[in-house]
Amino acid sequence: MKRIAIAGFQHETNTFSPGETTLTNFVRQGAWPALTRGNDIFEVFKNLNIPISGFINNCPHNLEPILWAMAEPGGYVTEDTFETISDEIVEGIASLNPDGVYLDLHGAMVTEKFDDAEAELLRRIREKMGYAFPISISLDLHANISRALFDYASVISIYRTYPHIDFAQTGRRASILLDRVFAGPLAKAFRQGDHLVPITAQSTEFDPARLLYARLPEFSSVSVDLAMGFPTADIPDCGPSIVSYADLQTDADNNADQLLEFLNAEECQFDSRLLSAEQAVKHAMGSSGPVVI
Ligand SMILES: [Zn+2]
Repeated sequence: MKRIAIAGFQHETNTFSPGETTLTNFVRQGAWPALTRGNDIFEVFKNLNIPISGFINNCPHNLEPILWAMAEPGGYVTEDTFETISDEIVEGIASLNPDGVYLDLHGAMVTEKFDDAEAELLRRIREKMGYAFPISISLDLHANISRALFDYASVISIYRTYPHIDFAQTGRRASILLDRVFAGPLAKAFRQGDHLVPITAQSTEFDPARLLYARLPEFSSVSVDLAMGFPTADIPDCGPSIVSYADLQTDADNNADQLLEFLNAEECQFDSRLLSAEQAVKHAMGSSGPVVI
């Protein structure tokens, strides 16, 4: 039985949004629980469809909860906010000195200073805990994954549905992957797509995203995941990316290359057209079913 620290810090940053995201946005409850600390995390997140809930339900080890905080999507996270929450997480891990950590992250957080805030958080954890320390993170399908974030994380698991319905399942996979890290060396490969995917074309209910995500379980390796990216962020790494883990490096590379080839071949199919307001109203008036605006 090992001791695992757990924490969460989620934000999807739209850098074109004029507002800023402050500590108050993380502290108060929105569509998600309010900022929660310590053992209250077990009570608040019990059986919810949230990654950390899935992790808690599945992980067989002794868990040491630090803090979980999420703000609704919005503009840049202020530096003060990022420093306050990441300090608590990093210092919490350092003082617990656990065997590993699980982090429930979004993957598209941008602060006033850091384009890739999650990579900065993991860099600080690595600085304290070293490069062999097991770090399992779960990310949103809209994560903007940089090479640095991939390198700092021992393993990454990503939602496979959009609209997202597999939050807890993703946390469960993060727990399985963390155990795989404890079991011994793991080969990994990272690839990025050569184009951006519009948010409106990313739904896994429709092709080509449906086809791409349906293929993920086909890979007989440890784990292969795909993030579509969050292109409403004016940063270098805001396109799709692939994380691949396997027992052998050749398998990790081959799986990532195969999926990348498929992703790039589908570029022209990510072309969902939006209707003008006039067309949309005309379309809705002719519909016999429910209409959502
Ligand atoms: Zn998302």
